Amino acid sequence: MLNNLSPQNPDPIMQLITLCREDPRETKIDLGVGVYKDGAGNTPVMRAIRAASKKVWDNETTKVYTGLPGDPAFGKAMRDLVLADSVEGSRVAAIATPGGTGAIRQAFELARKANPDVTVWTSNPTWPNHLAILKFMGLPNTEYAYFDEASCTVDFDAMMDSLQGVKAGDMVLLHGCCHNPTGANLTLEQFGTVADLIADKGALALVDIAYQGFGDGLEEDAAPTRLLASKLPEMLVAASCSKNFGVYRERVGCLMAISEDASITPNTQANMNYLNRIAFSFPPDHGARLVTTVLTDDALTADWKDELETVRLSMLGLRTQLSEELRQRTNSDRFDFIAQHRGMFSRIGATPEEVLKMREDFGIYMVSDSRMNIAGLNPTTVPLLAEAIAKSCK
Ligand code: PMP
Repeated sequence: MLNNLSPQNPDPIMQLITLCREDPRETKIDLGVGVYKDGAGNTPVMRAIRAASKKVWDNETTKVYTGLPGDPAFGKAMRDLVLADSVEGSRVAAIATPGGTGAIRQAFELARKANPDVTVWTSNPTWPNHLAILKFMGLPNTEYAYFDEASCTVDFDAMMDSLQGVKAGDMVLLHGCCHNPTGANLTLEQFGTVADLIADKGALALVDIAYQGFGDGLEEDAAPTRLLASKLPEMLVAASCSKNFGVYRERVGCLMAISEDASITPNTQANMNYLNRIAFSFPPDHGARLVTTVLTDDALTADWKDELETVRLSMLGLRTQLSEELRQRTNSDRFDFIAQHRGMFSRIGATPEEVLKMREDFGIYMVSDSRMNIAGLNPTTVPLLAEAIAKSCK
C-alpha cells in the first residue's frame, strides 16, 4: 500500500541548506533557514531558558499527564505576554500546542468546526506552510493583496480593496508582527482599519504571532494583536515561542481564542481541548514549562527580556548597516526599505535569476523568492552581501 503514496517535493529551504553546506567557498553566506543566529553563526540556548531548565530539573516531581489544554499556568502566561489587559481573561480560552505550527493547525480546525464553509484569507505572500496546511485540509483559501514587489512595502490600498471580498464567517489571517516572508508590516493605524473591516464583515481574525520581540520591542510587537483584541468581538491568536525564547525543537506554541462573551468561553475551551485530544491527546509540556518558568520569575523574565533585546538590536543594526552599504554602492535609496522592514526576514524584490546569480557568483544563499534571513549576517559579511546585491540586481 505504501507504494501508492505520491512523491513529496523536497522542501526548497532544506535543499538550500544542503547546497550551502556543500559549497566549498569560505565566503559563502547562508540566509535561508528561519532561525536566529548570533554573529558567530550559532543559535544559542537563551540564558533564562538554561536557568529555567535547571529550576525545572530541581523542582519537577512528576511527569504525569497535564490536562488536554496543557498546564493552565502556561496559557495564563501566554495570555499576559501577548494580550496583556487588552481583553478580559474570562473571554480567553487557551491550549498549548506543538509550536506555532500546531496552534495554526488547531486554529484552522476550530474555524472549520465553527463554520464548515469557512474561507481562509491569507496575505500574498505568506508563510508557505499556511498554504500547505490549508491545502492539505481542503479548506478554501483566498489571497489578499499585500506586498508591492516594486517598492518592497505594503500596498495597503490594494490590501483593503481585496479584503472587500471577505464574507461573514470567513477567517482573515494576519501576521501580528514581523511579516514572514516579506519583513514589511502594517502600521498600528492600518491594523485598526483592518480590524474595522473584519468587524464590519462579520469575519474571524486569526493573528499569527511568531516573532514577538524581534521587531520594535516586546510590547510594541504585541500592540497590533492587542488592538485587534480590543476592537473585535471574537478572535484567534496563534503564538509561537520558538524564536523569542529560542526553544525551536521543544515545540512550544499556544492557541488563544477570544469569545464574544465570557459565558461562551467554557464551550470554546472544550472544543479546543477536543481538538488536542484527537490530534495528540496532551500537548508537549517541557518547553512550555520552561517558558512559564521564565515568565513567572521576575529575575528570569528580566534576563530574558534583556537577551531578547540584544538579539533584536543586533538584527536592527545589521539592517541599518546593509541599507547604508547599498546606498553607497547603488548611489540610490532603492534598498532603504531593508532598514524599515522588521523581524528576521526581508524580501528584497530580486528575480529568481538574480537570486541564482548571487548564489553562483557570490555564494549567497537566499530563498528563490528573494527572502533573506537577516540573522544569517554579521557585520563582516554585510559588505559582501551588499556587493553581491549591487552587482546582481537590476
Ligand atoms: N508562523 C510563522 C509566520 C512562522 O514564520 C513560523 C516559523 N517559521 C511559525 C508560524 C511556526 O513556528 P513554530 O512551529 O516553529 O513554532
